[in-house]
Amino acid sequence: MTEKSVVLITGASRGIGRSVALEFAKQGAHVLINFSSNEAKAQEVAEECAKLGGSGEPIGFNVGASEEVSAAVQAIKTNHGKIDTLVNNAGISRDGLFVRFSDEDWKTTLGVNLDGTFYVSREVAKIMMKARKGSIINMSSVVGEMGNAGQAAYSASKAGLIGLTKTLARELAARNITVNAITPGFIETDMTGSLDEKVREEHLNGIPLGRYGKPEEVAYLTRFLASDEARYITGQVIGINGGLYC
Ligand code: NAP
Repeated sequence: MTEKSVVLITGASRGIGRSVALEFAKQGAHVLINFSSNEAKAQEVAEECAKLGGSGEPIGFNVGASEEVSAAVQAIKTNHGKIDTLVNNAGISRDGLFVRFSDEDWKTTLGVNLDGTFYVSREVAKIMMKARKGSIINMSSVVGEMGNAGQAAYSASKAGLIGLTKTLARELAARNITVNAITPGFIETDMTGSLDEKVREEHLNGIPLGRYGKPEEVAYLTRFLASDEARYITGQVIGINGGLYC
């Protein structure tokens, strides 16, 4: 059984999830680094966690596959006995104009971003409820609050996470489990790296602070929401967007 704090972060092989993993490792946590296909990257993150004073362990599963999620969470319970913090960070973006959007792209986006958060939270909450403590942090998006042309499925999935967060916060509060959502604006990761220059320029014009955010900045907020100092914060949607939406 692991004595130190155990943190499960979905989609932690790259981008925001990777930074969140490193931030928890700095606090000495044991970080379960979930990935979908990129095992080598997840292994690199685990090695970086060890250098920062924590420890890391790659764990591959598709958050959108209910049975895979149940098996993985069961294995964590057997090996570590607890999960103190869950960060539902794994996400994908399939973009396109609404009227031309395919059923498959719609279902895939919702399947990872929204169903995935439901599956993982449901299994992890059972462990936290028994322990009578825990923090769940859901990575939504500013786009779930304000919408974005060309991102109907992504926006709907991220708005759905806000409803899920508020409901879980109410259901789990009696067991001392906090549930919050973070809504990042545009953050420098692979997800935004593929945007063309013109789109990036348009984004920058709408951000009062005049720059994209850094994954570490989202990680600091995530770590705070999981800390003892944040035990009275639950059911909240906290923006980190450079003023893009306020
Ligand atoms: P990213 O760089 O594209 O990384 C996505 C991560 O999710 C990777 O670790 C990937 O694993 C994992 N993943 C994808 N599908 C998965 C699945 N089915 N099961 C398990 N893991 C899966 O993304 P990011 O920009 O860091 O975004 C992280 C989260 O923040 C997402 O939920 C995103 O919607 C949200 N967000 C991002 C921004 C932004 O501007 N970047 C803004 C608002 C919200 P592999 O490496 O194995 O593929």
